[in-house]
Amino acid sequence: STPLNAESLARIDGAAVPAYDRTAVTPGIVHFGVGAFHRAHQAMYLDRLLASDPAAKEWGICGVGVRPADSAMRDVLVPQDGLFTLTLKHPNGDTETSVIGSIVEYLFAPDDPGAVLDRLSDPATRIVSLTVTEGGYNFSPTTGEFDAANPDIVADLEGSAPPSTVFGLVTEALARRRERGIPSFTVMSCDNIQGNGHMARSTFLAYARLRDEALADWIEKNTRFPNSMVDRITPATPPDLTDEVAARTGIADAWPVVAEPFTQWVLEDDFSMGRPGLETVGVQVVDDVIPYELMKLRLLNAGHQALCYFGYLLGYRYVHDAASDDDIRTLLRRYMIEEGRTTLQEMPGVDVESYIDTLLERFANPAIADTIARLCQDSSDRIPKWLLPVIRERLASGQRSELAAAVVASWTRYAEGTDEQGEPIDVVDSLAAELVPRAKRSRTDPLAFVADRDLFGTLADEEGFTTPYLAALDSLRTKGARATLTELLS
Ligand code: NAD
Repeated sequence: STPLNAESLARIDGAAVPAYDRTAVTPGIVHFGVGAFHRAHQAMYLDRLLASDPAAKEWGICGVGVRPADSAMRDVLVPQDGLFTLTLKHPNGDTETSVIGSIVEYLFAPDDPGAVLDRLSDPATRIVSLTVTEGGYNFSPTTGEFDAANPDIVADLEGSAPPSTVFGLVTEALARRRERGIPSFTVMSCDNIQGNGHMARSTFLAYARLRDEALADWIEKNTRFPNSMVDRITPATPPDLTDEVAARTGIADAWPVVAEPFTQWVLEDDFSMGRPGLETVGVQVVDDVIPYELMKLRLLNAGHQALCYFGYLLGYRYVHDAASDDDIRTLLRRYMIEEGRTTLQEMPGVDVESYIDTLLERFANPAIADTIARLCQDSSDRIPKWLLPVIRERLASGQRSELAAAVVASWTRYAEGTDEQGEPIDVVDSLAAELVPRAKRSRTDPLAFVADRDLFGTLADEEGFTTPYLAALDSLRTKGARATLTELLS
């Protein structure tokens, strides 16, 4: 097979290749956290834009890795001249592979932090984007505050060596830009965090304040932090993908990416030095991302919870298998349409019904092989954020949520830690030590599980919630998950 690099590109015929002159593309975006998701999402959108609009050539991407493990990405992307393949797997088994060309430079910060600072300080750099995971924002989950005691942060603030963290590098670059009279770039978070722009703003400002108040004031005034909602299921690269891509396309890609065909990016239009014309390649550029975030959280994410406990109790271990079960499908569709959707805000031009249809199709995609166990993990973080607001908002307007209440009951039944055959369930949750005993106790003290005010607020006092919840919980115990679903949906 053909090695993947700039020189060999012309010889590749087994996959779509960039149809634009990459030598003319220069970096205008510096991206921290070049992992699977960035390559399947933002890099793909920029690749589309570069192919469709010659004027976009100043928006190439310079990828940056800061963690020791990112040397693996350097060792792939540098010899491959930034090129990699993206393979999309459709629910019907169809597969398409294309070569993505938008990453035109890759810098590994530990090799040469000075080169990263030079790139960030260059007036041509107008956006700094991030997919550094939730942990990358360095806030304490208990206090919600920036964790100033993190030793890497302490070292960067102390300043005896070049910066090593995203915070140290970006802030030093902003200091240089301020000194040199260069405007601030925009910091664009693409992480899966509600209000990701707000999160980036508060953590970068917290770091800057620890370093220099005047600089922090300048950043507060000059740096934009747009919020965004991003969506495309992108698993870690499975071990056999390299061989599969080589066999199908003849391309030897040392680190290919696979993802579902669905993709969505809703981006707040808030940029200090301009932005690429992403709206021409499918990005929804809007004034306010919040309604779109709510749609995703209350339909996709809450839908995952509606599927996972019932799915587990019915014996499924993969999301696509559960999503293909008629009863679960009906539960999902009806929860989304009758309950979740009724709490959403107006979004001009968005067809929620077809969004729901697409979700059900995505959940049933066998190529993604997402596990029920992953969805059940850390339920105490998920249910309160995604599902309970639906129940609460509906109660406030006098409406019950029988299906959502049954989902809470299915979580309770699952959290007892024993399935319908008497086999143990491994309840993986940071609160498992409290949740499991409480779920068991609810056999004799029915509201014991939902009485925890930290998780459930005052729902245990609301008859509109407790009546359907207790009915579903009792049915799950006496008749099982199948009969409960059948009766609930009849
Ligand atoms: P990945 O493991 O492939 O890549 C993560 C990247 O983040 C790596 O480059 C890693 O070095 C970097 N990183 C991690 N912690 C960091 C830190 N403290 N400082 C700097 N860099 C750090 O993961 P991925 O699939 O690319 O996902 C990354 C993020 O993208 C997710 O956490 C999520 O916020 C977002 N996202 C992912 C998906 C998905 O389906 N994979 C979907 C939507 C959003």
